[in-house]
Amino acid sequence: MKITKVEAIYLRQNVVKEQCDSGQDALVVRIETDAGITGIGEVDSSPLAAKAMIEGPFSHTTATGLANVLLGEDPFETERLWHKMYRANIYGGRRGVAIHAMSGLDMALWDIKGKALGMPVWKLLGGGFHREEKLPWAEGNRPWKNQRIRCYASSLWGPTPDATRELAGRYRDQGFTAVKFGWDPMGQDEKTDIALVREARKGLGEDVDLMIDAGLPWDAKTAIQRAKAFEQYHPFWLEEPLRPDDYEGYAKLSAATSLRIAAGEEESCRATFIELMDKGRVDLLQVDLTRCGGFTEAIKIAALAWDRGLPVANHGFTTYINVAAALHFLASIPNALICEFVAEEETNLRESLTKQKFRAKDGYLDIPDAPGLGIDLDEDAIAKYRVG
Ligand SMILES: [Mg+2]
Repeated sequence: MKITKVEAIYLRQNVVKEQCDSGQDALVVRIETDAGITGIGEVDSSPLAAKAMIEGPFSHTTATGLANVLLGEDPFETERLWHKMYRANIYGGRRGVAIHAMSGLDMALWDIKGKALGMPVWKLLGGGFHREEKLPWAEGNRPWKNQRIRCYASSLWGPTPDATRELAGRYRDQGFTAVKFGWDPMGQDEKTDIALVREARKGLGEDVDLMIDAGLPWDAKTAIQRAKAFEQYHPFWLEEPLRPDDYEGYAKLSAATSLRIAAGEEESCRATFIELMDKGRVDLLQVDLTRCGGFTEAIKIAALAWDRGLPVANHGFTTYINVAAALHFLASIPNALICEFVAEEETNLRESLTKQKFRAKDGYLDIPDAPGLGIDLDEDAIAKYRVG
């Protein structure tokens, strides 16, 4: 089988609100083959920069558009093609946007392999953990039920502590057993920060796990003070309290608190995940399949975490392509902890882009079983939202 066409399709709603929800635009990757099989993937990045990384011309041997690198190649050779893409952009692409672009391409290649063999990606990756009645690991936080994995509702904080309490109650009533609140207005002042967490806990009650996503606001000393103040509300984890490059700050914080410290969504490539674990001493990695380097890299990151006794969750705040990829990934690793699932108001683009829609039931998500990612694009939505 040979790759015959590589497309990076930018989609955007007419109205894009200034908010964290990144389901308002999307960069979708489509790879066609001479066997008539098409693979799809997604990139969560600065979309036009990532599109340029894919569609750019050959400039020289360390600055080459990634589509050029893949054309004519066999999509089954994912490991070799990952390294070929990495090498072809080694000047500007060791981290960040080129790895993001590679993530979507790698995802599409795995989709092609699954479709060609009639198997879901999790099976190609050697997975099937979600079918286990009993996990070999993480006994206290068992995430699996038959064919399903536990998920958490992922939301922004309400505009006030009171609004957050109401939101929390709503997610609890929807059957979620874990809820995360993130970013603004956390980080403004101590009083507000503590009130947000206190009211979130009130709204959730005592039986629902609460995750705090701080949104990069503090230095290490402030983060230690906040972590100590939050401990009485027993959050399940504290996410991204610090600037992602502040590995020393992460290490100080981790040593000073009993809370699990989570991070990873800013990382691309396993090298930076290693720094986060070994220098930053974080307790939990969050791996975004649309940014980290795709399935080929994510599986290695999970193995590196496993070697260090650490659990892994996904990160994903975009479309159902990302959700599907995350589920295949989590179903393929022994140290999966839980799946992030966006609980924000649905955007038109996210809801119409794929024929399959994911819905949490009783706090769980079904693992896709169809070949490849198990996702089909809605061509009407592509036509409607396509830019350029
Ligand atoms: Mg986050």
